[in-house]
Amino acid sequence: MSATFGFRFDNRYAQLPKPLFSLCPPQPVSQPEMVLFNAALAEQMGLETDALRTRPDLFSGNTLIAGSEPLAQAYAGHQFGNLTMLGDGRAILLGEHLDATGNRMDVQLKGAGRTPFSRGGDGRAALGPMLREYLISESMHALGVPTSRSLAVVGSGDPVYREEALPGAILTRIAASHLRVGTFQYAAAQQDAALMDTLIQYTLARHYPDQQNSDNPALALLDAVIERQASLIVQWMRVGFIHGVMNTDNVTLSGETIDYGPCAFMDAYDPDTVFSSIDHQGRYAYGNQPTITQWNLGRFAETLLTRINDNVDKAIEIATDRIKGYSTLYDQKWLAMMRRKLGLFGEDVMDATLIQDLLDWMQANRADFTNTFHALIGGEVPDSDLCQQPAFLDWHTRWQARLARNSKPRESSWCLMRNSNPAVIPRNHLVEQALTAATEQHDLAPAKALLAVLGQPYGDDAPEQYRRPPEPQERVCQTFCG
Ligand code: AMP
Ligand code: MG
Ligand code: MG
Repeated sequence: MSATFGFRFDNRYAQLPKPLFSLCPPQPVSQPEMVLFNAALAEQMGLETDALRTRPDLFSGNTLIAGSEPLAQAYAGHQFGNLTMLGDGRAILLGEHLDATGNRMDVQLKGAGRTPFSRGGDGRAALGPMLREYLISESMHALGVPTSRSLAVVGSGDPVYREEALPGAILTRIAASHLRVGTFQYAAAQQDAALMDTLIQYTLARHYPDQQNSDNPALALLDAVIERQASLIVQWMRVGFIHGVMNTDNVTLSGETIDYGPCAFMDAYDPDTVFSSIDHQGRYAYGNQPTITQWNLGRFAETLLTRINDNVDKAIEIATDRIKGYSTLYDQKWLAMMRRKLGLFGEDVMDATLIQDLLDWMQANRADFTNTFHALIGGEVPDSDLCQQPAFLDWHTRWQARLARNSKPRESSWCLMRNSNPAVIPRNHLVEQALTAATEQHDLAPAKALLAVLGQPYGDDAPEQYRRPPEPQERVCQTFCG
């Protein structure tokens, strides 16, 4: 054990009943080398930033930070609809850090070696996918979408073998927690009521402290998670994010986005957009994300039934009602979000139609999702040829008429729109270019430049090269798991 470097570990998960985790140290690597270090996040966490910058060994797990109690978490998950026993096969929780304000966060090494849950896997990760997670998670954070964060990427000096030999790496992931729907599925499978109650209390204490003394803690937890997930998916829809692997083991109870695998941002608007190479049916397409979340929440509710009510029929009735309620909640939140994207204050019965008509027009014309909304800020008809079409001009006139009925001055609308419509997103072709330079030419300059731009996604400062959609030959149509 070395010094603390400002980490203040208070490891409550390690106190939970044994089936929920397995103590397991990270496996040392040959040659830890710092690739990216997130100084701003380190500062925010109250860490000793300057000392950490030159200590890749701490972020590879070669040296354990004082206070760590490394463990792999057990969980299950519906993967593309099929329930499987999983667990951290290549991630190791070092512990729960408390920042200066008492905020609790998990510090996890991803790609830190084999665990009892590794099954056939090598417990390792390749540099490209870990850089990808760093870039996209930090971009999501800057966009204002709840997400896990990335503190560091460290090269391992060891090859990992996928279809070919690739440089290995470890990502340090910071998350509100790694509790997932799959954690509850795993716990429920133990058929131990006391275990479930302990896990429910731990989760409430961590994410929903106001609900800890609820008369029905299981139901309070279900309600709270439904709320957070509805809010999260609305944020994904706002920025055109497609997660790609919305299996129940990747659905957090904190309401943060987690597990950046084959995720991607949509360029041209199309609800059927899928990037993931493993999503053959389009189960996790952009437009399916709200309904698949309802399905995932249904699986969560099932784990809680015996704790909601002793009478199973009654429990099912209550839970079903809550899961149905998600649709209404989601629709309300989505409509409110879309009104903000269009600068609309108040409510007009025709708002939903106005919004849908724009989306339909965008889809029919393969208009760029991000740039179309951003170009509307200020209210002028956008310059592009596409926007001179009569169909668009007609829509624009109706939008102007609706804006005129706003209770607030126009400037308030533009302000609302500026904060709701980013100018830059991590477009696939830019991410791929940056990753290729990093992994094939050892050149991190494009990744660092992209990170800097993605850190300020709102406003007009980003250079055009980061804002334009891909040319046909630049288009990346498929993304892969790491
Ligand atoms: P994911 O698709 O990233 O959500 O991962 C699904 C499951 O596969 C989790 O239990 C992971 O820990 C496990 N897994 C993914 N990659 C590896 C690997 N290289 N070695 C061991 N387990 C892995
Ligand atoms: Mg996962
Ligand atoms: Mg993954």
